[in-house]
Amino acid sequence: MGHDQILVVEDNARNMALLRDVLGASGYRTLEASTGRQALELASEHAPVLVLMDIRLPDMDGTEALRLLRADGRTASIPVLAVTADAMAGDRERFLEAGFDAYLAKPIDLDELLAAVRLHHSRVSTVLGPNS
Ligand code: MN
Repeated sequence: MGHDQILVVEDNARNMALLRDVLGASGYRTLEASTGRQALELASEHAPVLVLMDIRLPDMDGTEALRLLRADGRTASIPVLAVTADAMAGDRERFLEAGFDAYLAKPIDLDELLAAVRLHHSRVSTVLGPNS
């Protein structure tokens, strides 16, 4: 149930396809949401090991979606990585202060993405056991 599933929240179809391909090639299954509301539903229903969160979504800001995930006991402890094109000075600090576990700037560096996914996924696996 939800093992090794990563929830990708992204409203751009090309970015979603890229993330699906690179994560799939590394053995992860993706759950896909294109709105914040859909992300909240999938997260509480499937308990993914990690969330990759776009910031600019059609229905809410990714930071608001993060706040709602953290406010729900079922999803509060899932690591959430911000993936955003808002790569301006101070953004990294702003997103980490908002509670994201990591920050990845677009265009996405695939090596950096996989390293961040492995880091935060292994943190979860250490708690839940090797097959989580
Ligand atoms: Mn977007």
